[in-house]
Amino acid sequence: MDLPDPKDLPRLNYSDNDLSIELNCLGSREYTKISYPVKYGIFSRLETRDLILEFNQNHEIRHARSKTRSWPDPQEWLKRTTGNDWVYYSTGGYAGVFESIGEYYLPNLMYTTNSLLGGKPFNEPEVARLSLDWHHTLAGIPLNRAGMPPHIRDWAEKIQSRTPADLDAKAGALFKISGGRTTVLPPDARHSDYDVIPLTIADGCLYKCKFCKVKNKKQFTPRTRADIDRQLNELKTLYADDLINYNSLFLGEHDALNAPADLILYAARTAHGALNFGKSVMKHPRLCFFGSVDAVLNAEERLFKELDTLPFNTCINIGLESADPATLEKIGKPVTAEKVTQAFDRMQAVNKTYHRVEMTCNFIMDEDLPPGHTTAMMALVRDRQRFTRPKGCVYLSPLRFGRPSREVLFDFYSLKTRSRLPMFLYIIQRL
Ligand code: SF4
Repeated sequence: MDLPDPKDLPRLNYSDNDLSIELNCLGSREYTKISYPVKYGIFSRLETRDLILEFNQNHEIRHARSKTRSWPDPQEWLKRTTGNDWVYYSTGGYAGVFESIGEYYLPNLMYTTNSLLGGKPFNEPEVARLSLDWHHTLAGIPLNRAGMPPHIRDWAEKIQSRTPADLDAKAGALFKISGGRTTVLPPDARHSDYDVIPLTIADGCLYKCKFCKVKNKKQFTPRTRADIDRQLNELKTLYADDLINYNSLFLGEHDALNAPADLILYAARTAHGALNFGKSVMKHPRLCFFGSVDAVLNAEERLFKELDTLPFNTCINIGLESADPATLEKIGKPVTAEKVTQAFDRMQAVNKTYHRVEMTCNFIMDEDLPPGHTTAMMALVRDRQRFTRPKGCVYLSPLRFGRPSREVLFDFYSLKTRSRLPMFLYIIQRL
């Protein structure tokens, strides 16, 4: 399937007294960090006196916002993910959101996560109504109007025919392709607004740490090239006409870096061609995946060298968690503090050597950790760095879910001020 050139897509409009429709609107073609609402890629919009709904190229709802006075803020909106979750993007009053997460908009999730920020927008009646009942509202809008061009009428019929049950089934089909839902995305997926296509190249992880809430029971096992090809074929069919809006890839599951170098490179190169990223409406393709301490230490140098030549900007996120022996013991992570330090040093060397590869890392955060945790972490992110560096983000990941805490947030700001590497909070988000 060849993707159309965006300039060949017809920009058709229809409007009357209480309805306006615009097909194939072109949003921003680059993921950007900006303090006003921005939509990406190509989408179509339906607007009434009370609401704005936006749809992807498969006629599936993508964004929603109410125009009524009960909507919390006209600068905020709902986005539906390919996993069929609604995410509420809030400004957080813009105060501190960018400093905390590196983005101007705060993703508020429908499920419990480790976020320290934000309120409870899904408890707002208008947000709850729109996220739960959007299809009922859409189905109640008479869209078969005299004078409506046939192409727009056809589009209107299609958007009304995509029911929540259809979207749920499609999310299920997505999870089935790789063998299960992506339960956690790397923090670096924020650079593509979490619009990443998941391709599993290895199941499971090495450590099965006691503290971890996203692990599964699978032993670490790389997939075969044939399985990667199968997934890509099925993904191409599933994303169909909306593939034009994607150019970012997530290699799953929890430790893709531990897969053989040739498999990682094969997956990235083949996906770029098979998913037509070169023809995406979005510019600057991105690749992200997770890695473990042992995977960093064992990785062949040629892997980073070759990743640097791919048509992607690559982010590899390493779960270091702590460089303090007492903390590693307490959280049940079976690696030594020495190995964590060695892995950290190698990551900095990769960051200095390869322009298009960034290695980022996660450390845990909690009120009840041994005091050595913060000291050991600051020794790496401050004392071991002679200068402030713009590359090699350090993400702090609160251990507790569903417990926003002002004290922990205050601690974060204090650590961030002292860090010589960029430091942000990691909000655990699924696909
Ligand atoms: S933190 Fe990473 S390595 Fe440890 S159990 Fe979770 S997924 Fe596995």
